Amino acid sequence: MVVELISVGTELLLGNIVNTNAAYLSEKCAQLGLSLYYQTVVGDNEERLAETLKTAVDRSDVVILSGGLGPTKDDLTKEVTAKVLGRELMEDAHSKERIQAFFKNSQFKVITENNWKQALVPKDAIVVDNANGTAPGIIIEEGEKAVILLPGPPNELIPMFEHDIFPYLRNRQPEVIYSQMVKICGMGESMVETKIVDLIDSQTNPTVAPYAKIGEVHLRVTAKGETEEEARKLTKPLVKELKSRFEDYIYTTDEQVTLEEAVIKLLKKNDLTLTTAESCTGGMLSARLVNVPGVSDVFKQGLVTYSNRAKKKLLDVKKSTLKDHGAVSEQCAKEMAKGGVLSTGSDVCVAITGIAGPDGGTEDKPVGLVYISCYMKDKVTVRKFQFKGNREKIREYSVVNSLVLLRD
Ligand code: ATP
Ligand code: MG
Repeated sequence: MVVELISVGTELLLGNIVNTNAAYLSEKCAQLGLSLYYQTVVGDNEERLAETLKTAVDRSDVVILSGGLGPTKDDLTKEVTAKVLGRELMEDAHSKERIQAFFKNSQFKVITENNWKQALVPKDAIVVDNANGTAPGIIIEEGEKAVILLPGPPNELIPMFEHDIFPYLRNRQPEVIYSQMVKICGMGESMVETKIVDLIDSQTNPTVAPYAKIGEVHLRVTAKGETEEEARKLTKPLVKELKSRFEDYIYTTDEQVTLEEAVIKLLKKNDLTLTTAESCTGGMLSARLVNVPGVSDVFKQGLVTYSNRAKKKLLDVKKSTLKDHGAVSEQCAKEMAKGGVLSTGSDVCVAITGIAGPDGGTEDKPVGLVYISCYMKDKVTVRKFQFKGNREKIREYSVVNSLVLLRD
């Protein structure tokens, strides 16, 4: 089944708002195993919208439009769609009641005339309730095809999609889709792809698709079958093959599990407590760790030791180390990690020190140079990285790689 998106709104074309609806809907369509070949952004203009919609209906099975369902004059998605599909607009009593009820419960007690426009729906359309606003969603079926209209505000569109449209699309699918995630860390995107290029080239059902995240690569294995059981079975040999090719680089095959969760779980399993000692990441690592519920069993303390003085006072980094090697050095990272364990009594400490830029780099120590060290049971390991990117990216890479080091 081929699906296509049309995002309506002049403010999208002007760059005033970011098209997060398209990103959200595309990801959901991928999850449903739908083929998405086109996305269009079109302004609040009757002619251009009509033309875009006609083209979309011609070449795709399902067309999803977002935006332009509101009460004002520039909201014309529904009117244009009705015209293009040759359907009359009729008042929907249920939507009218909901609009009345919505205003009764809101701060606005007066319903202006233009709000009733939102109770009009194309003849024989399926009306989808909007739990967070007045404009209902609308599904218009045209033989084998369907056109779906969704409100623009994400806080209205997302719950409506999750609750009604997702199941609707899944039921329209002739086949059942099953997908399994394989999450990899500690290996670059191009290396991952090189290792599976033969699988990608020869694939039909199941398929494998890589998604690169910062410091991670996620592989989604998707299969189609007549039943979920059949589709699930089809994914198994490919997942097994990926496991044998990537071995320990895989940290989970559970879509919901994040890298920090996997790390916390591992520490918990081994009955180890953790301290972080961060310089250039300024607490980003500990912030990420505390995203995980139940982390308090494992996480003892997060130390942000930005200055040399803090490194000396809190982590007992030697004055001579700072003088001879500098704060961004293998030696300093090691001493920070050891100091973190000694000063907090935890079993493990991971320490990060580096140059996030944009200033502060030298020929010897360029921006992006980061040392990450881990101290555990009198053993200390340290890794040197040369990250590329801006300050934000360098810090994010540092955090992910310290999680990778912890996992190792
Ligand atoms: P309203 O009743 O609020 O007018 P609407 O269905 O008519 O809703 P629009 O007028 O197109 O939708 O957009 C309303 C708001 O929703 C925008 O100002 C913007 O904040 C958000 N929005 C619209 N389209 C998108 C999009 N594609 N991605 C993210 N946000 C969007
Ligand atoms: Mg609007």
